[in-house]
Formats: sequence, structure tokens, C-alpha cells
Amino acid sequence: MEKTKPDPLKSYVIVGGGTAGWISAAVLSRALTNTKSNITIIESPNVPTIGVGEATIPSIIDLLEYLRIPLKEFILATNATFKLGIKFIDWQKKGHHYWNPFGGIGNKIDGKPFYQHFLKHQFEQNKYNFTDFSPAAALAKENKFYLPNPNVKNNLSSSSYALHFDASLVAKYLTKYCKNKGVNLIKGHVESTELNQKGHIDKLIFNDGEKLTGDFFIDCSGQKALLIHKSLRVGYEDWQHFLPVNKAVTAQTNTELSIPPYTQATAHEHGWRWKIPLQNRIGNGYVYCSDYCSNDEALTLLKKNCSSFITEPKFLSFTTGKRDKIWHKNCLAVGLSSGFLEPLESTSIYLIMKTMLNFVQNMPNKSFDQPPIDEFNRLIDNEYHTIRDFIVLHYCTSKRTDSAFWQMWHHIDIPKTLQTKIELFKCQGKLYENHYDLFSADSWYCVLEGMGVRPQSYDPLIDASNFKKIEQAFVSSVTELSKSIGKTLSHDEFISKLRIS
Ligand SMILES: Cc1cc2nc3c(=O)[nH]c(=O)nc-3n(C[C@H](O)[C@H](O)[C@H](O)COP(=O)(O)OP(=O)(O)OC[C@H]3O[C@@H](n4cnc5c(N)ncnc54)[C@H](O)[C@@H]3O)c2cc1C
Repeated sequence: MEKTKPDPLKSYVIVGGGTAGWISAAVLSRALTNTKSNITIIESPNVPTIGVGEATIPSIIDLLEYLRIPLKEFILATNATFKLGIKFIDWQKKGHHYWNPFGGIGNKIDGKPFYQHFLKHQFEQNKYNFTDFSPAAALAKENKFYLPNPNVKNNLSSSSYALHFDASLVAKYLTKYCKNKGVNLIKGHVESTELNQKGHIDKLIFNDGEKLTGDFFIDCSGQKALLIHKSLRVGYEDWQHFLPVNKAVTAQTNTELSIPPYTQATAHEHGWRWKIPLQNRIGNGYVYCSDYCSNDEALTLLKKNCSSFITEPKFLSFTTGKRDKIWHKNCLAVGLSSGFLEPLESTSIYLIMKTMLNFVQNMPNKSFDQPPIDEFNRLIDNEYHTIRDFIVLHYCTSKRTDSAFWQMWHHIDIPKTLQTKIELFKCQGKLYENHYDLFSADSWYCVLEGMGVRPQSYDPLIDASNFKKIEQAFVSSVTELSKSIGKTLSHDEFISKLRIS
């Protein structure tokens, strides 16, 4: 094969200045440091950003590290709080709650997963819940926070955390970050595009007639999908038959006495309601299905369950699904233009980050070779499918029958891949191996356990371990965890200390 030197792209153009646009610009500017490529981002003065997207998962910390953004500075600039996981209320049945905490739960015993030993414990004694062994859940229940230190090993080390933040302040912070890295900002409204002979995007045409050329275009224009769909005609795989919620009403309220270090997700008659605590306010939203609930009913429910709104309520619509190809020709779709999985597990910002980090690992040349593009699309497809399955799991295992919405979940066809995972789990509590699954085995166990899905048996080799000793270890583990939590700061104290240190 003939050897050719890389022929790098010179200009990257990002359309859209929402969370997707600014994260894309930040990742690109970091990846292209010391190269001759330039980056331009375009924000329309006429189209606002979606204004939601304020809960994250622990990979947000990896993103900050990649961008070399100091955690403390970011937290103070974005009114952020810590998130140790999600408290799911009324999902299995009314009056019941469970946790899906971040981080690990228990260690392997005699080479077998902790969960298998826990299962045997449940068969014999049923004294504990699986999340009783989770440091993050133990902290969250007490409104405490502990920042794990990789150099200090203790029984809170396997705790992990993410952030809740103000989306508009994040965009502001990243704007400054990107400007310092030489990203050009254009305030303009893109009207259409011109394609070249290969069907690649050649130019953007603005509503004042101005034109802008580029080598590569990143579509962060939100649900409009201006480039990937309107210009390149890439289709959309609709997953509403798996996840029928399609609307949300949102509003902000004042902070309460203390700031919980977790997101709250409460199931209601026609969907579920989030509560995301920031330092200075709370973000609230009710996600529902328009076949069962009108906008007025949704607003009434949100009002009934919140203190007085400090912002006007806002209605949003969405179609759960995924773009057929996230990268097509010289265009990459990032954020809402690429697809949307409802916000139950706070995965959209993760997908933005993952799309961009995968992209910079497959940086194209001017030749736009197809194999790296195909591999990129395969990996991102995989992410979407596993996240979709995990979200459907929360609904399809509910025992609720108190409304037409919940009754529907007892008859709905779930993805075959999820069906297989649940069937496998029900035998001996084993999980389907998928190295690309964003959610760890412990997360799957937490939701399955939390929703009351129980295996018929456990791994027969567990009986080879000394059960009495393991039971004693369980008791001391829970006692020691509780002692350690007693010594940690409250979440409020931790944030106040950050402000003054
Ligand atoms: C109800 C709901 C709750 C959510 N909650 C979460 C959550 O908790 N966690 C999470 O990770 N994600 C969440 N998300 C998803 C998250 O909000 C988005 O992934 C994220 O905000 C990225 O949006 P975006 O930048 O793609 O689009 P937008 O914010 O819509 O930005 C689009 C940008 O494109 C620009 N634009 C549009 N048209 C033009 C044009 N013609 N010319 C030039 N510019 C143009 C606009 O000016 C704007 O700057 C939620 C989404 C919804 C719907």
C-alpha cells in the first residue's frame, strides 16, 4: 500500500452554541492545540438554547480533566452541586423508593462477584438491601459528601460522583475557555447550505446573505438538525414505541433548607418528575406522554409538587430516537441533532462528550476514509442502544397499574436485547456481558433490585464459600460504613468550604 502523509483538515465549523456546541468547541480546541486548524462556532441570535440538561453522570469529571478545567473553579462558576446518584421514588410501586448510586458496591469474595454473595444472603436472611453496601448511597441518604482521594484507601473510596449545574452558566464558562483557546464566535443565523460534487457540505449561507466555507461541520443546532438532516438528509430512527414519553414541562424553584447530593426522580400517573438541586435554585420538570396527559394536567401536577415557581414554566417536546448515522460525509451531529434518550439517567451530556472524544480519536483527513467513520458510528450506536435498554428497564419492570400510562407498560414490546438481559438475570442473577455498556453491573443490579426483579437462584459455586464468615463481614461492613459517614461533612458544609478555601 502506498504511504501518504496525513492531510489534516484546516477548518472546523460548529453550528449551535448550546451545551453541545460549546462542549464540542472545547474538546476540539483541546485536541487541536498546536495544530494549524481553526475552529468557528455560530450561535443564532434568534434561536434560544433548550435551557435544560443540568444533571450529569461521573464521566463529566473525566471531561473536566481532559479539558484541564479545575473542578473547584468550575463548581463555583456554574453554581454546581455534587450528585452521588439518583433516588427513584414510587417507580416500583407507590410509597416505595430505591437508589441508583454511583461507584462500586462491595468487593469480590473468593473470586465471585459481591452481588452473588448478596443474593445468597437474601435467600437465607434478607436483612439488607444491595445499596446498603454502597458508600455513595450511604452518603446520599444522610445528605453528606466525601470527595474520594485516589491516594487514600478507605471504605468510602469506591464512592463516585457527578455534578448538577446551571446549563447557561456552563455555556458561559466554556465560551470563555474556548475564546482563550482561539475559537472564533460568530453571531449569525444559518439559513441554508451549499453542497459540493461529492455531496459534502461546502458552505453555510446566513440569513443576511453572508457565506462561510469549512472543511468539516459539526451540527449542534439542536432538534432542528440543520446540517445532518435538513442538508444531508440523514434519517432518524424513532424509538417512541419503546419509550413513549415525549413532552416535558419545566420550572425553577428556590433552594430548600439543605441541598441534597442527588437527583430525585419521582414517578407519577403519566410519567415522572425530576428535582435537580443547584447551589442557588432547584430545577424541576415533569416528563410525560402526550397520549395520556395534556399540557394543562402536566403543569398542574408540577405546580402541586413544587414550591412557588421563580421562572415561567416552559413546555418542551421531543422524539426519543437516534440519527441513522451520527457522522455522515463531512458532518458530525452532536447533542439533540444526533438523537435524544429521555433524561431519566442524565445521559445526554455524556453522549455529547463521548461523541466528541470518539471523534477526536478518529480525526479525519481530507480523504474522509470510510472505515474510521463506520467504526465511529458503530461505537456510538452501541452506546445509544445500551442506554436505551437501561432506561426502558426502569419502566417495564414497574408493578404500577394505577393509570392507563402504567398499565401500558405491562403490554408494551420491549427491545429484544433488553428482554434477553432480563431473562438471563432472572435465572441466576447473571448479567449480559457488554464491555461497551455505560452502566456498570452494579448499576444494573441496583435498578433490577430496586424494581423488585428477583433471580430464581444464585451461582451454585457460591455455596463453596464460608457463609457464616461472609454474613459477619456484611454486618461489619454496614456498621463501619455508617461510622465513616458520621465523620464526613454535610453536602452544604462541603460546598461552603469550597467557596471559602
Ligand atoms: C426535558 C429535557 C431534560 C433534559 N435533561 C437532561 C439532563 O438532566 N442531563 C443531560 O445530560 N441532558 C439532559 N437533556 C438533554 C440536554 O438538554 C441536551 O443534550 C443539551 O442541552 C444539548 O442541547 P443542544 O446544544 O444540542 O441544543 P440546544 O440547546 O437547543 O442549542 C441549539 C443551538 O443551535 C443554535 N441554532 C439553532 N438554529 C440555528 C440556526 N439556524 N443558525 C445558527 N444557530 C442555530 C441555537 O441558537 C442554539 O445555540 C434534557 C433534554 C430535555 C428535552
